[in-house]
Amino acid sequence: MKKLKILVALLCFVWLFPGYGQAAANIKIYLDGSQVSLSSGASAELISNKVMIPIRVVSEKLGYSVGWEQKTKTVTIIQDKKVIKMVVGKKTATVDGSNISLDTAPIIKKGTTLVPIRFIAEAMGMKVSWNNQTKSVYLESQNSGSGGETIQPPAAGSESDLTQVNGISFSDSKLMIATSGGAVPSAFAMTSPNRVVVDIPHSEFSSLFEGTQALDLTKSTAGQIIVDGYPGVEKVRYALFSESPSTIRVVVDLSKAMTYKLSTTSAGLITVTFNTSGGETTPTPTVKKTVVIDAGHGDQDPGAIGVTGKREKDFNLSLALKIQQLLKKESAINVIMTRDDDNFLKLSERVSLANKAKADLFLSIHANSGPAAATGSETYYNRTNSKSLASTVHKYMVQAAGLKDRGVKTGNFAVIRDTTMPAILLEVGFLSNKNDEAALFNETFQNRVAEGVVKGMKEYLNVK
Ligand SMILES: [Zn+2]
Repeated sequence: MKKLKILVALLCFVWLFPGYGQAAANIKIYLDGSQVSLSSGASAELISNKVMIPIRVVSEKLGYSVGWEQKTKTVTIIQDKKVIKMVVGKKTATVDGSNISLDTAPIIKKGTTLVPIRFIAEAMGMKVSWNNQTKSVYLESQNSGSGGETIQPPAAGSESDLTQVNGISFSDSKLMIATSGGAVPSAFAMTSPNRVVVDIPHSEFSSLFEGTQALDLTKSTAGQIIVDGYPGVEKVRYALFSESPSTIRVVVDLSKAMTYKLSTTSAGLITVTFNTSGGETTPTPTVKKTVVIDAGHGDQDPGAIGVTGKREKDFNLSLALKIQQLLKKESAINVIMTRDDDNFLKLSERVSLANKAKADLFLSIHANSGPAAATGSETYYNRTNSKSLASTVHKYMVQAAGLKDRGVKTGNFAVIRDTTMPAILLEVGFLSNKNDEAALFNETFQNRVAEGVVKGMKEYLNVK
């Protein structure tokens, strides 16, 4: 990653989650009556008789905007217009610029920064109590936010009607921008390179922001945060994007496309949450799944000929086109046809088309031929990576077709053998069977089977 040189120390948000759960897993935290679940390796600890919690919990569970500056070991916690700063090992904290002494200094233990929960909660205006028997901390928010006790930040917001931006941080999957409120931010995604842009109209950096966060002194309007601990997110850049109208732009640089959700609280906390489905693992980017539909045979190659002379290639194409129409309605699926008319492709051409497209799924459509009595639907796969696709689609196809279930089988067909992605071949029914043949060339039957096959593919691809 290319690190831009800026004069002021970079704010570096490093969240390490070591699993030291057993140490004091018995300390419980209640927020307004409900227990706060401290999952995934984050636990509270008793240190010098004070309950200390990982800074991660402060942002995730208490909802404050938390910044961590690696270089100076400084924790910044922002809520509404209030800013708390603490330094690891130092018993003096600042609340909105005023010095307050601490009983217990923040410490780093096994890579995690722990901060005293009582101090933070009280500074944020909460009532705090401790039950020593049950080892429980009770936090009670005093509600109706703008109570008389709120300490106003020194200069911020006093002479300006612009929204004040007091702090920016990135924690886990969330970009958090603490403002004085009233702004209607907008967010949009851009590509090459992937990034999400948040514009805050009629806003400016508050004097508080300048005191707590890195601004490039040469321009005094820009800075950045290197994000180190959330896969896919590289850094956050922020700047006064335009002076008239005064607009702050925050850009989150991504290493891949990600979904995001913008929300704003009435207190002015702007949050952009990035794809959260992945948890600790890499988040799933919202890239389209590519599906190749292969109508077997074509042109001079009719495939099987039915009892009444109907040709397999026509059934294959007709069903394939119906599946294509259904897949076109799926925004998460990109469909590629090996043929969409009475054209002929060699088997190797069908294979290389799918492989080159790096398709996620290959589905070949055929109809069977055999003894006159043979009837029913079967699904073939060749490689083991295709077995679950085969059984999923087969289940829906059989249900939709209503013919005999002949099961999922392995077969050595080139299109499902030489492709690299999960690939299956459907033999929907027997053209050599009078009843099957009639069904295969029935519009309603074809529509039903197309729907079933699409349902199966969607289930397999986990497309909702
Ligand atoms: Zn065939």
